[in-house]
Amino acid sequence: MSHRIYFDHASSTQIHPEVLDAYVEVLKTYFANSASLYDEGRKVTELLSKSRASIAKLLGVQTNEIIYTSGASESNSSAIKGVCLANKEKKHIITTCVEHSSVMAVCEQMHRIFDYDITYLPVNYNGVVELEEVKKALREDTAIVSIMAVNNEVGAINPIEEIGEYIKKNSHAYFHVDMTQSIGKIDINLKNIDLASFSAHKIHGLKGSGILIKKAHVPYEPLIAGGEQEMGLRGGTTNAPTHMMLAKTLRLALENRQSNNDACRILQEYTVNKLLEIPGIEINHPKNNIPQLVNFSYEKIPSEVMQNALNAKGFMVSARSTCESATLNTSYVLKAMGYSDLRSSSCIRMSFSKENTKEEIDAFIAAIKETIEHYG
Ligand code: PMP
Repeated sequence: MSHRIYFDHASSTQIHPEVLDAYVEVLKTYFANSASLYDEGRKVTELLSKSRASIAKLLGVQTNEIIYTSGASESNSSAIKGVCLANKEKKHIITTCVEHSSVMAVCEQMHRIFDYDITYLPVNYNGVVELEEVKKALREDTAIVSIMAVNNEVGAINPIEEIGEYIKKNSHAYFHVDMTQSIGKIDINLKNIDLASFSAHKIHGLKGSGILIKKAHVPYEPLIAGGEQEMGLRGGTTNAPTHMMLAKTLRLALENRQSNNDACRILQEYTVNKLLEIPGIEINHPKNNIPQLVNFSYEKIPSEVMQNALNAKGFMVSARSTCESATLNTSYVLKAMGYSDLRSSSCIRMSFSKENTKEEIDAFIAAIKETIEHYG
């Protein structure tokens, strides 16, 4: 296979060359433990603090509200469990039925082990959570509401600011937002959000590096206790060189947001038009989604078969969330949007960066046609 084509940027992304160059330098120079008291350790702490301050400024929060984590899964787990542990008298969690497994599985644990009552909000046929549903679900004993900003399978955009404003005005529940798929794509005002999660490797940064934003007023127990790292909120030797790259990664993602979005919107429209020329192909993503993502089904070919055939032809795509790929053969997100079993088990997710080209899409469309001829 000479030329492989990558259409799976919602799963992970190539490291930005500027991030990679800086990382190599930092790895060589700043290996000391940031908790050490000698000059080299202090220098690492100083650089980490600088990075933390830049991230806080870029996001419009305070520096002590930024906690470095290993990625969005850890941030999601920490947010939900950390708030619940610190607010033990409240036994109700609200989330949605289309969250990433790192939120779903935590809610399931909280129910199974600690008897929490979980409300899974429905989505409409556009994959969007409606404010009315949040209003109906909020209770006196709701500890936390956890809602993703952008869905990772279909790119649906939730009305996060509107929901945040309502929660703040009408309840004492804390509001957590999984921003993993929205960061660097859409702008969200964090004013009414208490906690938020994202990951560097989705925005051309490094794996093993993420952020949990936890506002100063939120009572919280660390998921990983021990050690005074991260202001006592996340124990363990800090992955300093990796986290030092986060400020640059985030700055580049935010600076390039508009140009990325514009380039991806052109690719998205081009792809949808080409796909719709093929009889039997149906588009699953809603019209108002992020420009990076296309989700479609060809019902006669199950996702795995299509995915493998495309892989053999040199194309990297997903069916559902990569974290679900091995366990489920039907998309619970598409099911929640009201699609049939057949359509939900034959979906393919393409996700772009601005490096993708129309030529790559033409080649992809030809590969889909060949696959349909062969299997369909
Ligand atoms: N939330 C969402 C919406 C995601 O798409 C992902 C990655 N698939 C995660 C959380 C988990 O991110 P990480 O790989 O950094 O743990």
